[in-house]
Amino acid sequence: MAKEPLSIPESEWKAVFDESLEYFRNLLRFDTTNPPGNEREACEYLGAILEKERIDYEILESAPRRANLVCRLRGDGSLPPLLLNAHLDVVAAERPYWTHDPFGGVLADGFVWGRGALDMKHMAIMSLMTVILLSRHKAGLKRDLVFAAVADEETGGGYGSGWLVEQHPEKVRAEYALGEIGGFSRIADGKHFYPVQIAEKGICWLRLKAKGAPGHGSLPNWEGAVGKIGKAAQRLGSQRLPFHCTPQAAVFVETMAGHQPFPKGLVLRQVLNRRLSRLILDKIIPDKGLARMLYATLHNTANPTIIRGGEKVNVLPSEATLEVDGRVLPGQTREDFLREVTAVIGDDYEIEILEFKPAVWAPPDDPILGAMSDVLRHHDPSAVVVPNMVPGFTDASHYSRLGTRCFGFSPVKLPEGFHFIDLMHGHNERIPVEGFFFGVRVLFDLVARLCTER
Ligand SMILES: [Zn+2]
Repeated sequence: MAKEPLSIPESEWKAVFDESLEYFRNLLRFDTTNPPGNEREACEYLGAILEKERIDYEILESAPRRANLVCRLRGDGSLPPLLLNAHLDVVAAERPYWTHDPFGGVLADGFVWGRGALDMKHMAIMSLMTVILLSRHKAGLKRDLVFAAVADEETGGGYGSGWLVEQHPEKVRAEYALGEIGGFSRIADGKHFYPVQIAEKGICWLRLKAKGAPGHGSLPNWEGAVGKIGKAAQRLGSQRLPFHCTPQAAVFVETMAGHQPFPKGLVLRQVLNRRLSRLILDKIIPDKGLARMLYATLHNTANPTIIRGGEKVNVLPSEATLEVDGRVLPGQTREDFLREVTAVIGDDYEIEILEFKPAVWAPPDDPILGAMSDVLRHHDPSAVVVPNMVPGFTDASHYSRLGTRCFGFSPVKLPEGFHFIDLMHGHNERIPVEGFFFGVRVLFDLVARLCTER
């Protein structure tokens, strides 16, 4: 018989919400803009709260003022650990464009405003509260629960999760990790969809070099390096790399399509059809943002971003370079990607790989998705969990190196028409207070279930 997961009496939640809101607003007041990050004070603030609860924690400094907090509630060891991860650094905020101080922790119009409200100090507090509540209620845990509040996600995690994985792997090793990006609701056709990240694309950043005949700018030259590199940029900027249907893309499309009315669902499903995909993406799907996102989950991409060549207007340089932001799908190697790029630009270029990080992914039928769905539906009966792939990378790219299955799940119920993705690095980042409370409760219920049930 499965044990009933720990539940907290209804009457206690009001006080828990008030407490979480206070911690959340205080955390938003630490300016952790990265660079430089300066996450140390924010870690100390969380540490002081844990200390009051008599929960052990460590602050691990990866560089001066760059710090990571890790705490662990011990289980009986019958199941492997679960990790809750939130990064404390944020991207810069352009103050003049904000209605409220981005580092003021302002509560107004039913929202908490601030840089990091969605990305992702809310998850830091939701995780903190989960740990605190399990500790206060002396829950008998079957697995260790680890909470990591980390530095530096916004510039790649080298001082945060990446550093922890390399320097202190035993402190963060887990079977599952919950973090970003996912759990934000999106209302469409009366359904409340909750995308949960099960995969994120990898990177393959390239520098292409073209060589050409040097010479005087007054004489014609049809073999110049700048002309050649321009040709590569033009081709990569306008041509498409081949279609690939991964199981992670398929489960996303199938789930979304399954909840759409006829014939919308039928049409959407055709993006998985190699022959029809392009037509559907280019001509049929009205939401261009969705079409681009779907395109990214079905193709490797190669965006030319930096072009360099020449010093003087009247001198033809012998070399020119182009940097390319390549993103690769689950299962694609650097060789696969180079083959696709060469097919577009030809083999007239020297190619240097600046950085390669493979895509990371979890199985699309992992049982944790069923648990998320149960818990969400308990609090929002029209919730539909949609496993999805994110085109960028997060801390999951580091934790998965330890064999951890990473899921983007920092649940927040958002009102209709609220596009969190535009606010995450945009102006007036904010989170509905009610949606945040919903998240505190859903995350607690899910973690209680994962840690106390067999
Ligand atoms: Zn983030």
